[in-house]
Amino acid sequence: MPCKTAVIVHDDYLKYDFGPWHPFKPYRWRLVLEILEKKKVFETGYVERISARYATLEELMLVHTPEYIEYVKRMSERGEGFLDYGDTPARKGVFEGAVVRVGGSLVGIDLLMNNVYKHAFNPCGGLHHAREDAAAGFCVFNDIAIAARYAQKRYNIRKIAIIDVDGHHGDGTQNIFYEDPDVLTISLHRYGIYPGTGWYTEVGSGAGEGFSINIPLPEGVDDISYLYMFNNIVVPVVREYKPELIILQYGADSHYEDPLVGLGLTTRGYQEIMDTVHQLSHELSSGRILVTGGGGYNVNNTARIWSIGVIRLAGLDIDIEDLHDKVVYVRESPSQYIIDLAEKIRSYLKKYYKDL
Ligand SMILES: [Zn+2]
Ligand SMILES: [Zn+2]
Repeated sequence: MPCKTAVIVHDDYLKYDFGPWHPFKPYRWRLVLEILEKKKVFETGYVERISARYATLEELMLVHTPEYIEYVKRMSERGEGFLDYGDTPARKGVFEGAVVRVGGSLVGIDLLMNNVYKHAFNPCGGLHHAREDAAAGFCVFNDIAIAARYAQKRYNIRKIAIIDVDGHHGDGTQNIFYEDPDVLTISLHRYGIYPGTGWYTEVGSGAGEGFSINIPLPEGVDDISYLYMFNNIVVPVVREYKPELIILQYGADSHYEDPLVGLGLTTRGYQEIMDTVHQLSHELSSGRILVTGGGGYNVNNTARIWSIGVIRLAGLDIDIEDLHDKVVYVRESPSQYIIDLAEKIRSYLKKYYKDL
């Protein structure tokens, strides 16, 4: 049975533009729509394009400081320099682009909570490096964190799980909720690249101890090894936590052809992640799952990964074989390094999750 799924977009998403030389391409969502149109996904009646909206100042302040919001606005009006130490340019209009991208994730929460749509996808959300008071790594406002707080405040949701499969550590999101037991953050990422954090001993602090989970991965991890980690650590932790809402940061830069990261997922690995988290959402959170985009610096691969994701999430019976990578991995079992690492992580987290 297909599930009604919203794809949330807005033309002003394009204002989140760091310039033609920058690896972050603001138009990736348009390529997703093109693929979905070609596959006649909208004609099924189960997937609909919904317009994003601008987030309000009050909504931005659920996470960000007024000083930082004002700073981004001023820098964006000036249109020169960087918002951080050199990764995130302050181009004209970037403030508007960032605000509407946050609004897209908030529209997603509204649709899920009002039960209009079972699932929601904001291809231009997932800006997981942004801090309360600082931009970082191409991320201006942390729509994921704002969406989580918004769901808690507006809809009285208490427990939220954020699963982040972007190739980079979701450090901004983790930092915001580091002492908060009501938001479980889980990040799988290549360890040792930007931003440098995300070792498995980072588990949260104070009341939040045990509610930040990190899976640091070595270069080149393939589907089999990645999914071994996912199924043996992430799935049991989320099951035991029992979230009322799941947010999946579905960054596409863990793909083997991504030019920035160096992990080894294929489109089939991504599909299996989506299927697993989709199933968890029906099992644990009444199907409530907000999927966001994130990184993904090979634009065509990113568009394929996200399109396959939408089609699987909606449960449509559409042939997607041509959207998949042609490569087939020969490895049939996870690497010894991964098996050993999973065991180390499992025993480290055992005191917080007895089902591990
Ligand atoms: Zn579903
Ligand atoms: Zn990334």
